[in-house]
Amino acid sequence: MIAVPPAVLAVAERLPGDRPAYVYDLAGLDAHAGAVRRALGDVELYYAVKANPDAEILRVLARHVDGFEVSSGGELAHVRAVAPEMPVALGGPGKTAAELAQAAGVARLHVESPNELRRLLDLGGGPVQVLLRLNLDIPVAGAALAMGGGATPFGMDEHGMRECLELLPAQPRVRLRGVHAHLASGLGAPELLALAGAVLGDARGLGHTEADLEVNLGGGMAVSYTEPATRFDWPAYGSGLRALRRPGETLRVEPGRAMTAYCGWYLTRVIDVKRVHGQTFAVVTGGTHHLRTPVTKGHDQPFAVVPGPENRPREEPVTIVGQLCTPKDVFARQVPASLAPGDVVAFAMAGAYAWNISHHDFLMHEKPAFHYV
Ligand SMILES: *Cc1c(COP(=O)(O)O)cnc(C)c1O
Repeated sequence: MIAVPPAVLAVAERLPGDRPAYVYDLAGLDAHAGAVRRALGDVELYYAVKANPDAEILRVLARHVDGFEVSSGGELAHVRAVAPEMPVALGGPGKTAAELAQAAGVARLHVESPNELRRLLDLGGGPVQVLLRLNLDIPVAGAALAMGGGATPFGMDEHGMRECLELLPAQPRVRLRGVHAHLASGLGAPELLALAGAVLGDARGLGHTEADLEVNLGGGMAVSYTEPATRFDWPAYGSGLRALRRPGETLRVEPGRAMTAYCGWYLTRVIDVKRVHGQTFAVVTGGTHHLRTPVTKGHDQPFAVVPGPENRPREEPVTIVGQLCTPKDVFARQVPASLAPGDVVAFAMAGAYAWNISHHDFLMHEKPAFHYV
């Protein structure tokens, strides 16, 4: 079973009543982000805010990162309010006119298509620093999600890139600083370094005229929900990137999941244990409308049990479900556990793509409490 940090355990042991709770381990996040920072050295680190935009989390990360990557005007306004001094990069495949108008105020705008660049050029306003988002036609083997490596709505192929390069020289306002690529998620350091080599090769071939080529290599660093102790090899990735870099080049990465997944815990209480047609189910308060990750990723969410006052039943395969009236409300299927009513189940790895991607209003149950330790 996964180890619960003492400060999180203290909240679990005093969890009042039946209301579920999220606990964010900010001390753990601080240590983890510091280690990532050191491993990357002078490779720039932006955090992809869409993984978890919680203000307390952003404040901790702001001590370690060079900037935040946002995907909407809403995220941009939020980051500006929480960390006004932080450089921001704005990306996303469908930017509205209002979002493009905000571009002059951000450190970098990631351009996704020739039409988007035309709309940006037509808008007028202050100077804008852009990266062109590249979608390379190379196979991305082993990825959990692919944003590139073929036909997807993200970024541009060589035709789109060329069209943009022809639009840019005629004007002084929109300055090309380099290339952005976020091709896949769920990759290990060797696979991401191989992709980085391919992206850098393409970026250098663009005929970019600025002295300092910038390449943002995206996020997508692997997080294993089946083997939580297996972590992305940040030291190998950092030294690998520094070896690929040529003098005068700036490299940047923008991880989301691998930064914050580990700091989040979702605590729920077992309200019923039942056998139905030969299988054992534990029903907990709350549900996947608070923690949608196991449903979207199709995994068993790792967890620890904080025992309540009941006698320990023997360990057996248990399916852990929430309070929703749908068979999809499953956290983990047939996993070995000893669970009794009153126990607290502490679901781990609930710090990224967890609360903020969940359908909170479905069935109108009480929202969880939030604790920061
Ligand atoms: C989602 C996203 C990221 C972060 O991806 P993770 O898999 O969470 O690391 C980075 N860059 C872009 C453009 C994204 O869309």
